[in-house]
Amino acid sequence: MRDIKSMTLEELAAFMKEQGEPPFRAKQVFQWLHRGASSFDGMTNLSKALREKLAQSCFLAVPTVERKQVSRLDGTIKYLWRLSDGNCVETVLMRYHHGNTVCISSQVGCRMGCAFCASTIGGKVRDLTPAEMVDQVLFTQLDSGYPISNIVLMGIGEPLDNFDTVLRFLELVNHPDGLNIGMRHISLSTCGLVGQIDKLADLRLQLTLSVSLHAPDDETRSRLMPANRGVGVERLFESCRRYFDITGRRISYEYAMIDGVNDSDRQADLLIKHLRGTPGHVNLIPLNEVAESPFKPSRRVREFQKRLEEGGVTATVRRKLGGDIDASCGQLRRKRMEEGQ
Ligand code: SAH
Repeated sequence: MRDIKSMTLEELAAFMKEQGEPPFRAKQVFQWLHRGASSFDGMTNLSKALREKLAQSCFLAVPTVERKQVSRLDGTIKYLWRLSDGNCVETVLMRYHHGNTVCISSQVGCRMGCAFCASTIGGKVRDLTPAEMVDQVLFTQLDSGYPISNIVLMGIGEPLDNFDTVLRFLELVNHPDGLNIGMRHISLSTCGLVGQIDKLADLRLQLTLSVSLHAPDDETRSRLMPANRGVGVERLFESCRRYFDITGRRISYEYAMIDGVNDSDRQADLLIKHLRGTPGHVNLIPLNEVAESPFKPSRRVREFQKRLEEGGVTATVRRKLGGDIDASCGQLRRKRMEEGQ
């Protein structure tokens, strides 16, 4: 069975040719798929014979809403989607002034092992497919009724650990016959896999790269983030500089502030030292408490921000959305796992 929704338009055209169909069929099918068709039966501009042939040779599934929570505070909507094999992933819809933004997952679980993160607790179950990533955007839009203009790859999973799938996903959502979301409206967040950052830079995409930094010194960063071990902060900044040099895109650095761990003046100063001369900005995130983790939110967020600003580094404190609905990723999926299903 072919995963037809993960095919690019060019692949679909080649596939249609194999079936003895004219090339324009590919575009018709592509459009149906990326408008959320749940079966070939409904593709009414195709012949019945072709619909049946596709149903026999291709796999087509759509996710179902396992759980949906709407924040009363700010309208943030969190979906727990059930995939065709029974696994679940989270997607969050945030309603910003600059447009409706979805935060999507790239894997079921995560193997990066960051000490403060709920998504990695059970390890990685599997990679998502390109279609499953597209579906999070598409079905969030269809179910909520809000048109989506921005995507952030900041949900469950490490996108650069599912590199080829993510690239294909980008091609699909970017396509004019698909969701047609511009690269400049897409952000990708990584825990800092340097080899993959270098590979991504070489592709010169216009997306925004967010690097989850969380500490400017190797001792703290390696303790919090196993991906830093044997690599180091220096090497990470080297890749970030190279990324900027090649793409011209400023990097944003995520920094979840943890009480007594990464919120000292010394660490602010070290961060300034690293970032001086590299265009980029720091996003300070108040830590979300995870039941299984010992870390507490920092009480020095404003002071830390002020120190960075005084040192010439732009730093913003991220507004917390969906505080009443566990809207930080990984938490809803964990809850459901604990309930033993
Ligand atoms: N694997 C990617 C994307 C997923 S995590 C990455 O590491 O960037 C999305 C962001 O949420 C990352 O910056 C991650 O470090 C952060 N995060 C994870 N757990 C958090 C928590 N408990 N509080 C605040 N931010 C958290």
